[in-house]
Amino acid sequence: MIVMKFGGTSVESAQAIERVASIVKTRRQRRPVVVVSAMGKTTNRLLAIAQSSVNGQREDALRLLAELRDYHAREARPVIREQDWPQAERLLDEHFQELSELVKGLSVLGELTPRSIDAISSYGERLSSALAALAFRNYGMDAAHVDSRQVILTDERHTQAAPLYPQTYARLEQIVRPLAEKQVVVMGGFIGSTEKGVTTTLGRGGSDFSASIVGAGIGAEEIQIWTDVDGMLTADPTIFPHGRRVKSISFAEAAELAYFGAKVLHPATVLPAIERDIPVLILNSRRPEVDGTRITSTPVPCSNVIKSIACKRNITVVNIHSTRMLMAHGFLRRIFEVFDRYQTPVDVVSTSEVSVSLTIDNTAHLETICGELSQFSEVDVERGQAIVCLVGENIRFTPGVAGRAFHALGPVNIRMISQGASRLNLTFVVAEEDLAQAVEMLHGEFFRELDPAVFD
Ligand code: ADP
Ligand code: ASP
Ligand code: MG
Repeated sequence: MIVMKFGGTSVESAQAIERVASIVKTRRQRRPVVVVSAMGKTTNRLLAIAQSSVNGQREDALRLLAELRDYHAREARPVIREQDWPQAERLLDEHFQELSELVKGLSVLGELTPRSIDAISSYGERLSSALAALAFRNYGMDAAHVDSRQVILTDERHTQAAPLYPQTYARLEQIVRPLAEKQVVVMGGFIGSTEKGVTTTLGRGGSDFSASIVGAGIGAEEIQIWTDVDGMLTADPTIFPHGRRVKSISFAEAAELAYFGAKVLHPATVLPAIERDIPVLILNSRRPEVDGTRITSTPVPCSNVIKSIACKRNITVVNIHSTRMLMAHGFLRRIFEVFDRYQTPVDVVSTSEVSVSLTIDNTAHLETICGELSQFSEVDVERGQAIVCLVGENIRFTPGVAGRAFHALGPVNIRMISQGASRLNLTFVVAEEDLAQAVEMLHGEFFRELDPAVFD
């Protein structure tokens, strides 16, 4: 059995769905369980609709909803059989009827809670998975749709829910595994439900995570993440377009890259896969003939010191100076308690004798945090920063990596530097306007020569 996950762009149009059907069909012998994301930009659209409703723009929200329905109908129509179309239309009617009731409710309430955000954003995957299952019939596959909310059970942390593993694995084992012996199972990614049956989501980009949970639960031999690039590349293609494909990478390296911004994989994806030692593949649904990237626990030996460069834009640096001359006992604890209280994760930290600098991504509570910090320290904030992270298992065995990076970065002003305890990464903070140049220079330095066993 294998899990095949298709991201938003891979199911964005009739043509894309047709490509997916043909990819799945040629792998039918391996008994695929298919996990799909919402079609195209549907999740963003649903969130925008929810926002308009609570802002009192009810008519706008309903118009956008009608457009979203048209989009789904238009793209699904050519890939669904004549005799199945009434069923598809019923499905669209029901789902969009519910959505318009939700929109009206939100416009009356004027408030968007995490629970209602999940209720609305779940429709993307509910629609795409049901439509994909119908479309597969058109290509001669016997497909069965499973509502992920019946199997992926989570805690109640709406918009960021964590799976309840024992319950979820039990249901995957009882429901999905036997079904997949006979039929092509199609499920929506991203969504789940609490034990009380309330709809939840696993966080943005969470369909990768769903695929890996499903893979672990059914004991899949492989988890395939089909997307719009050839695999994990040596740099983020939106920042540096000349990156090369990394053929093989370890779970630890992939997790680090995902955490520091390589959006191609949701950071939690590797967890269930590691636990059950299931290889994860990243593949291109537009170019299925390319081998992609294979992520496993035992990496292929590599003569390059790093595998890839991840980056994260829109980062804020918080500099905290001790108001006493030296850092007092308990100073760091007090600082981290403040960030913890406001559920604000800290990514990069560096300290000196009298100060601490750290980076955050989520600035929702920044003002309050600074207010509390300034009760025992001096605080200043720098917005518009970026993290650049070199990742590779060889960093820990190779002296002089930081020196090479500094040298390569030449004129770029480095705001912070840090090496994680795993010693798998070397992380810099630079101003966002220097990011593209920094990545280009580092890429030139570390990927001038490529080990052909690992890079394409
Ligand atoms: P999907 O909808 O299939 O889940 P995503 O948009 O979430 O796709 O992830 C794929 C995107 O990740 C690529 O289009 C690319 O722009 C981005 N990306 C960022 N860093 C990397 C990297 N190192 N290698 C490949 N893609 C990357
Ligand atoms: N549709 C969800 C999102 O856009 C989940 C995913 O695509 O992975 O975040
Ligand atoms: Mg994604």
